[in-house]
Amino acid sequence: MIRYGDDILLVDCGSKFPDETLLGIDLIIPDIAYLLEHPGKVRALIVTHGHEDHIGGIPYLLKQFPLPVYATRLTLGLIETKLKEHKLLSQTELKLIDSESTLRFGEIELSFFKTNHSIPDCLGIVFDTPEGTVVHTGDFKFDFTPVNHAYPDLQRMADIGKRGVLILLSESTNAERAGFTPSESLVGEHIEEAFMKADGKIIISTFASNVHRIQQIVNAAVRAGRKLTLLGRSMVNVVEVAAELGYLHIPEGMLVASDEAAGMPREEITVLCTGSQGEPLAALARLASGNHRQLEVLPGDTVILAATPIPGNERNVARIVDHFYQLQAKVIYGAGSSTGMHVSGHGSQEELKLMLTLMKPEYFIPIHGEYRMLYQHRLLAEAVGVRPDNIFVLNNGEVVEAHNGKAAVSGKIQAGNILVDGLGIGDIGSVVLRDRKQLSADGILIIVITLSKQEGKLLTKPDAISRGFVYVRNSEALMNEINELVVAELNKLLQSKISQWSVLKQTLKETLGNYLLTRTGRRPMILPLVIEV
Ligand SMILES: [Zn+2]
Ligand SMILES: [Zn+2]
Repeated sequence: MIRYGDDILLVDCGSKFPDETLLGIDLIIPDIAYLLEHPGKVRALIVTHGHEDHIGGIPYLLKQFPLPVYATRLTLGLIETKLKEHKLLSQTELKLIDSESTLRFGEIELSFFKTNHSIPDCLGIVFDTPEGTVVHTGDFKFDFTPVNHAYPDLQRMADIGKRGVLILLSESTNAERAGFTPSESLVGEHIEEAFMKADGKIIISTFASNVHRIQQIVNAAVRAGRKLTLLGRSMVNVVEVAAELGYLHIPEGMLVASDEAAGMPREEITVLCTGSQGEPLAALARLASGNHRQLEVLPGDTVILAATPIPGNERNVARIVDHFYQLQAKVIYGAGSSTGMHVSGHGSQEELKLMLTLMKPEYFIPIHGEYRMLYQHRLLAEAVGVRPDNIFVLNNGEVVEAHNGKAAVSGKIQAGNILVDGLGIGDIGSVVLRDRKQLSADGILIIVITLSKQEGKLLTKPDAISRGFVYVRNSEALMNEINELVVAELNKLLQSKISQWSVLKQTLKETLGNYLLTRTGRRPMILPLVIEV
């Protein structure tokens, strides 16, 4: 978010997937509380590129906060697909820009520069304000032999630097990685080599959004005389949008449906699918477990994972590789640099230094990365001559303010994560998550107690119901002990004339909880239900 006077502009609005501690959560989106407090000032959303971590939150933002959205052609195409799904397309103002566009909002003037990344049509943004120039790089690498011949515009970047940059915000994903990130073209060579050697079916999986890599897969398939079948909803979506907008060139008649492919000779088929991260429900996992309706993997088929598992996904990917080997397929997998089947879309240390050197900022804010990456990026900036005092490694929500050529951290606004579960946005908090964690660890024990209102005593034997705690039929002794304990505890309370539900429930929870912990070593959630008749 960038603000000058009464004008606020937003850059990107992504989403991310939850880790395993966020049980049942579907998606994480940014907190927009600050925007809701300043409704009259927010002018537009500018989007640097079409990756999920930059566009995934847009529908949720627009539902609460309608705004015009500015992006390049491919990025807009991908945003449109999302807005269609959320039925927001007709009411949203979408504005097409490119690297030559200039925009003005109040006293903020915007211009752009082209960058290379693992998706085409990426922009860096220049904000010229009366207080100075702020540059946001978006995600980038320097690829001097890009697949789509969209070369990085070093001259433009140097010009921006020459005019003077007050603050540079630059992405930090690969700040821990030494050297240069190799060119995407290198992957194409390896893919083609593998295609030429393969004799059965080829099954290849990569990120659906990596249009450059998909183009190289298409090219290799053309050269090997193979047709192409697409599996997976996001793959079909992206290919459709990218081909329609001219970012992807697929020869006529090359795409075949999966049922058609099933009837063709093996050596004429390439299957391009989602699931390179081991996602259990994606096409690749279904092929690996033999659960695909039309296609099966046969001995001698070639499986290529043209992606590196993102940390946390290694186990799922490994399981799929095991399955393919069991089917006697040839599998090319492993960290991308070892197989040549993947290069990163993010610049490594030397490229981050190059950006810093071109922009020559007075102040520097590393963005887009875990804290350690931001920190490494700080060291790189220091190494190329940015004054250590002029580098701000920020936590989410921290504000940097610039005045008279001086910038400083000036405060904090509300910011952070909002959890999405089904149709609920932000209604799941730490209490619900704690409950889910407890339920998933040791299950639940429900105790139904029927009390007489008048006499204040137990009417029937308590009823204990277990889900995920113990299997009741095999635990008769334990269930009896639970019943006896509940009866004894209740009678004790009722005799001392204590009959408030809250006290009864709390006492039962504690006594029973302690008992079960010693008796079973487990901590189920205990839920006493009191019925008065
Ligand atoms: Zn990206
Ligand atoms: Zn990103």
